[in-house]
Amino acid sequence: MGFELPELKYAYDALEPHIDALTMEIHHSKHHAAYTANLNSAIDGTDMDGKSIEELLIENFDNNAVRNNGGGFWNHSLFWNIMSPNGGGEPTGELSSAINDAFGSFDSMKEDFAKAAMTRFGSGWAWLCVSDGSLCILSTPNQDNPIMQGEGIPILGIDVWEHAYYKKYGPGRADYISSWWNVVDWTIVSENYETLL
Ligand code: MN
Repeated sequence: MGFELPELKYAYDALEPHIDALTMEIHHSKHHAAYTANLNSAIDGTDMDGKSIEELLIENFDNNAVRNNGGGFWNHSLFWNIMSPNGGGEPTGELSSAINDAFGSFDSMKEDFAKAAMTRFGSGWAWLCVSDGSLCILSTPNQDNPIMQGEGIPILGIDVWEHAYYKKYGPGRADYISSWWNVVDWTIVSENYETLL
């Protein structure tokens, strides 16, 4: 039993040219698969077995195996889900209003988000989160996640580990981030937001 590697809703080459097929294949079938297997190994036969992934993240900040691999499992599951070959554009409805309330405009939110992603030194993530009913931008190192310490619940996130972009972009993290907006599925991000209202 344990956790299962989620299947992608699209082919490995579906996000081309923004994310290349080989990066997607390795990222999903090797990296995410390893986080999933190592998470299962860490909880198998313990009293953690059977808990939700969110419970595990909140309760195991001092347990490196569960923190790193549980974070890796959760973070990548969100990442695949908020991308689509039909992505791009802008959000509408409740999410659009909330972004304008919190950041002034969609473009300001993108700027703040890209800055968080660019200034994350080394490996980690940038997030658009819901915290106390409003939106905020956070970033975390390694496979940490804002859920772990109650900082917020991510509705959108970008992986800025080099394994997410280096084959295509080399050290060009800024180019990866600006291209990535073209695959963000705002319909899913809006659903993530509305689920938390
Ligand atoms: Mn990754």
